[in-house]
Amino acid sequence: MTRKFFVGGNWKCNGTPNEVKKIVTVLNEAEVPSEDVVEVVVSPPFVFLHMVKSLLRSDFQVAAQNCWVRKGGAFTGEISAEMLINLGIPWVILGHSERRLILNESNEFVGDKVAYTLSQGLKVIACVGETLEQRESGSTLAVVAAQTQSIADKVFNWDNIVLAYEPVWAIGTGKVATPAQAQEVHFELRKWLHDNVGAAIASSTRIIYGGSVNGANCKELAAQPDVDGFLVGGASLKPEFIDIIKSATVKKNA
Ligand code: PEP
Repeated sequence: MTRKFFVGGNWKCNGTPNEVKKIVTVLNEAEVPSEDVVEVVVSPPFVFLHMVKSLLRSDFQVAAQNCWVRKGGAFTGEISAEMLINLGIPWVILGHSERRLILNESNEFVGDKVAYTLSQGLKVIACVGETLEQRESGSTLAVVAAQTQSIADKVFNWDNIVLAYEPVWAIGTGKVATPAQAQEVHFELRKWLHDNVGAAIASSTRIIYGGSVNGANCKELAAQPDVDGFLVGGASLKPEFIDIIKSATVKKNA
């Protein structure tokens, strides 16, 4: 089963209109492998979604960084899945560790969000990952399995889900997982999907890695058999994001 390489850029809470235009210009002018080889999705803050969507090249897509758990209404400060659909935004990042840990989003809440968002026709980058304490106590797989179980409890069609394994200790720290560490968890997570969700879903679902990926470390990570791409934070705001997109060719030549 071939899984198309996927590179997401999570811009987080960064950018002025001018900075955003500059990033889009770099992306638009870049020579990257074709859409058959790599799927590229960038995720600006909500306020720039419309601008980025209208300026960005058509072979790249746009994701929101979050959305509300159900239909919109009296939920001050929230953005609904329906609004994103109306704006023509195809993807949403859900369950990012910054939301799980800082905003106390529980596994169940993330699972509900994933289910509702998919039901509205959006595609989801669903993030899972352990803290340093959890890794050091040997519970990495139990943690990512519980996070994935909360999604599996509510979702039956995985076609529009990309799973992002993002160890919390590697996010924004410059401390990247080694290729072997990433491969080990991706392999175990795929095995967990196989045993608990189904063989076909395990072999077709893309599991991407996130955590201090940059232009220098991406190729070695991309070469791992169960690493199907990346979710990139800091480096997605820089020109080296193009090198990360190009690392998709490592897979093609494998
Ligand atoms: C992220 O926030 O999803 C992420 C992976 O960040 P960074 O690449 O900066 O570690």
